[in-house]
Amino acid sequence: MQLIDNFNFAGKKAIVRVDFNVPLNKETGEVSDDTRIRGALPTIKKIIADGGCAILMSHMGKPKNVDAHAGDPKFSLKQIVPAIEKYLGKIQFAPDCAAASEQAKNLKMGEILLLENLRYYPEEEGKPRGIEKDDPAYEDAKKAMKDSQKKFAKTLASYADVYVNDAFGTAHRKHASTAVIADSFDEANKMFGFLINKEVEAMDKVLKSAQKPFTAIMGGAKVSDKINIINNLLDRVDNLIIGGGMTYTFIKAMGGKIGNSLCEEDRLDVAKEVLAKAKAKGVNLLLPVDAVNADKFDKDANAKVSKTDETPDGWMGLDIADESIKKFSEVIAKSKTVLWNGPMGVFEFDKFAKGTSAIAQAVAKATQENGAFSLIGGGDSVAAINKNKLADKVSYVSTGGGAMLEYMEGKVLPGIAAIRGDK
Ligand code: AMP
Repeated sequence: MQLIDNFNFAGKKAIVRVDFNVPLNKETGEVSDDTRIRGALPTIKKIIADGGCAILMSHMGKPKNVDAHAGDPKFSLKQIVPAIEKYLGKIQFAPDCAAASEQAKNLKMGEILLLENLRYYPEEEGKPRGIEKDDPAYEDAKKAMKDSQKKFAKTLASYADVYVNDAFGTAHRKHASTAVIADSFDEANKMFGFLINKEVEAMDKVLKSAQKPFTAIMGGAKVSDKINIINNLLDRVDNLIIGGGMTYTFIKAMGGKIGNSLCEEDRLDVAKEVLAKAKAKGVNLLLPVDAVNADKFDKDANAKVSKTDETPDGWMGLDIADESIKKFSEVIAKSKTVLWNGPMGVFEFDKFAKGTSAIAQAVAKATQENGAFSLIGGGDSVAAINKNKLADKVSYVSTGGGAMLEYMEGKVLPGIAAIRGDK
């Protein structure tokens, strides 16, 4: 596999898949958070510093237009040009990503060209638009679309000598710009950018070469969303801490009283299987022993503590309580690898945020004081770490969202496989 560190871009045109799907201020259209732009800078700067030029491509939002030329302007990447220029100086813009050959050809070394939103073309995602799935013609349209997706990817590839993928957030999609395009480049001329490299390195450190003891902390709302990750992790971890709403499906499966707490009745068997599998594999599975309960799902609800399996009638568990915090923190403190996905409670309500904050503190402490490698991933645990201002006290905060979760499930990501050849 080609590594960006070893590659010299001098005299080369590089087409770079970045994730510039940034949030915009609804009134002014200005970029309200440029984290993703900043995330791509090391890769772009390396290409330019080597003496190459960069053609940047990205999607923005979910345009649903059928005609590629009638894309909704609210999804236009033109809006973000000033936000990019703030870091990289003057750049050029191509208003039609599939008709940019001339601009690409004329691009001089040291210059940067940004292509218009790839998703103005349905070919990017490879799904036909303007036809419903139950339409008898849908299957044919889908097949035809796969062919046009290949053509579209070839057009994009024709602009450049080298392909760089630095958009981890879309690596779990087999889109023209994230995977199909790679077929047009030989192995020496396709590679990950620095951002994907860092993400993959961090995740592999946890999944493939974790130092022991390895503790995974899984929270969030539902068992059904996390079951595949839990199953994949059970083969790897020493300790599995479960918190958040999914606690109660487990507690009910074990015969506890859960009041009005969140429960997936159709996942009780799944919970039982997880408990049995953990036992068989010698994994220390920890569930909260006590909870902060609410009399309604509201930020101003009354709160009272009970054992997790003795939730009073009419009450629901919305956070882990002190005894659980202590037990979980002790296990985390002794860990050498920690993976955290999902909050321990409804941390959006201050009254029920203490457990999640305490776990964030414990993960940061293990990293700082015990030299643990800690990876935080998944939207809400990232929000929780940021809310507690601890992002720089943990080893890595993944920007991946869905891509990170699928990687953790053990799935092959098309965007990763297209370059690294994962099977
Ligand atoms: P997820 O996206 O699956 O990680 O779930 C995150 C959501 O789970 C957050 O919005 C939390 O408010 C919610 N959550 C966490 N704990 C609970 C709980 N005990 N009851 C209901 N929702 C919860």
